[in-house]
Amino acid sequence: MKRQAAAWVSGLMLAAGLQAADNTPQKAVAPIEPLVNLVEEAKKYGVDGKATPSPAKAKEEKKTAQAHAVQWSYSGKTGPAHWGELDEKFILCKIGRNQSPVDIRDRHAVDARGLPSLDVVYGTPQFAIINTGHTVQVNYPVGNSYIKLNNHRYELLQFHFHTPSEHQLAGFNYPMEMHLVHRDGDGNLAVIGILFKEGAFNPELQKVIDRLPKTLGKVERHKQVQLDLRRFFPADTRFYKYSGSLTTPPCTEGVWWMVFRQPIEAAPEQLAAMEKILGANNRPVQPLYARTLIKSWFDPPPEAVQEPLFYY
Ligand SMILES: [Zn+2]
Repeated sequence: MKRQAAAWVSGLMLAAGLQAADNTPQKAVAPIEPLVNLVEEAKKYGVDGKATPSPAKAKEEKKTAQAHAVQWSYSGKTGPAHWGELDEKFILCKIGRNQSPVDIRDRHAVDARGLPSLDVVYGTPQFAIINTGHTVQVNYPVGNSYIKLNNHRYELLQFHFHTPSEHQLAGFNYPMEMHLVHRDGDGNLAVIGILFKEGAFNPELQKVIDRLPKTLGKVERHKQVQLDLRRFFPADTRFYKYSGSLTTPPCTEGVWWMVFRQPIEAAPEQLAAMEKILGANNRPVQPLYARTLIKSWFDPPPEAVQEPLFYY
């Protein structure tokens, strides 16, 4: 990646798209299910054999999970088209009108210049990674890393990956998408989405690839590894913001989404390594219905500032 860590400061200020009352995410009627604890989720809902490194192991885990959980997956009879029918708790997957992901198009977006800021304060805790069976996830201890949206604090709980991307830009999927999941004190979620495209080798992503879990459902800790999450941010930090949902059952709504418009790069073999372990774990895009995307515009980053022009 071109961007160096030195270019970042703690509490990086990003212009953000927060709007007044009408755009505040509605509090979900039901308590928000934690997307966050995918360990529990893996226990509850079972594991998707397709996304596992070892089919034999997956089968064994799957059998245990099925005994007391509703199985969902990314294809066939338990795939996204049927999630809403698998369990009454999943009903929003079928009837929700604020679902994620979505196809992001400029013509559906409104400009949000001059709105409050997004502060990003990410620490470097001990690296803890887990293969949940639905994704590969890196967990964060509460209190270590957070963002502030309109001065409201959301703690970073975990990040994970989808191959290909879940969100589309102008109708196109990207090879991968990373989700940074944050939660406030009331349980409301704010997720940052980062798209990946084929390009230069990504050293930060390689730290994850080198430690992809061999077994399902177990947190693996690596003391010597520290990730600098800010290196996953694109140089152009403009993003789209909208009110959406979890992209996995129970598809709970009231989730703030912020998706960067500029994809970051990873080498083709890195993306292939991620795809190999994840399989296809992307929910298809959902209709926008009455929602409006908020388009966030920023001052250009320092390296993009043009030299002043002189006239004689
Ligand atoms: Zn996700």
